[in-house]
Amino acid sequence: MPFFRDIIGQDQGVRILRAFLEREQYPSALLFSGGAGIGKRTTAHAFAEALFCRAFHDANGKAKNAIEKPRENPIEPCGACLSCRKMIDHNHPDFSIVEPDGNTIKVDQIRAMEEKIIFKPLEGPRKIILIDPADKMNIAAANSLLKTLEEPPSHAMIILIASRPASLPETILSRCQKVYFYPLSQARLQSILMEKKGWTSEEALLLATLSDGRLGEALSMEVESAKALEKERYTLVSEETLNHHETLFEVATQFSHDKDALEKALSYLMGWFRDVLVFHSLRHPGENCASQFVFSWRYQELSQWAGRMSPEAVWTFLEDVHKIQMAQNRNINKTLSLETLLLQLREKVIARPVMVRSLSEK
Ligand SMILES: [Zn+2]
Repeated sequence: MPFFRDIIGQDQGVRILRAFLEREQYPSALLFSGGAGIGKRTTAHAFAEALFCRAFHDANGKAKNAIEKPRENPIEPCGACLSCRKMIDHNHPDFSIVEPDGNTIKVDQIRAMEEKIIFKPLEGPRKIILIDPADKMNIAAANSLLKTLEEPPSHAMIILIASRPASLPETILSRCQKVYFYPLSQARLQSILMEKKGWTSEEALLLATLSDGRLGEALSMEVESAKALEKERYTLVSEETLNHHETLFEVATQFSHDKDALEKALSYLMGWFRDVLVFHSLRHPGENCASQFVFSWRYQELSQWAGRMSPEAVWTFLEDVHKIQMAQNRNINKTLSLETLLLQLREKVIARPVMVRSLSEK
């Protein structure tokens, strides 16, 4: 069962939620936003547990006299009372989750939820409904939810979880109190992974990089599959891809079959060319500078890229990548966008053959 103290790197979000619990004032709708595997759902569970915990409420959801039982500070669920045990066993009557049925959350699911939340909570001080991921609601479902958000029952709290909140209608966003979840720094996640998983510093760095600083995502991966994944993403900038038209189009198609794939490809390109810029900025680049790079294990390849692209050219390219990242929520042609980017890279490679900056030069 999750405790607030186990949620790493989300201090701001946890502080906001603890403040609600301390004041016993709850918004009717919350939006947890941040990348997948960053800890949104775990935090929502810890919050619900703390809210239901009998250490602070009796069986009718009435707050216990604060003098008789002051809140632990900082607030945590006890993990042992009947309510906490029901949360652990996933059978608390006042907590429910709406998840996609197939690819989307459908209007019938939202309606069924709305029929249930009219009734008062059975045990806790509030009824909590988690909609996860809320950005998978189809339009009819979102419209139906909007009606509830406009006039929510006072005993209900709806928590929307979304990694792409921008795809939710503005009318819904404006009715939610927002809680943001941020990625951890690469160095911090690396050290957490070394400690929690016993991985070597290279392995932990690889996983920290590929998970974009999201702890849950990193913990769910295995070193071997991460290595395979890294090899796969490296094809975006490999000689093989850029030298062969056909391979280039295959790679562009492979990394644009859905939003997620494209997002990961763009994030990889951002990280890669950020490293190329770092390479340029170092006066005496050498293997001992490895810690400055995101992709330190690709030192040789990075040095080749630094030899073939000027800092200005890298900047221009990063701007182009950023433009596509920004345009993702509009209906852009994903494959065409990625193809165009890779073709631009190809031109740069053809225009400027590799000049390896070997260690002996310095
Ligand atoms: Zn408890």
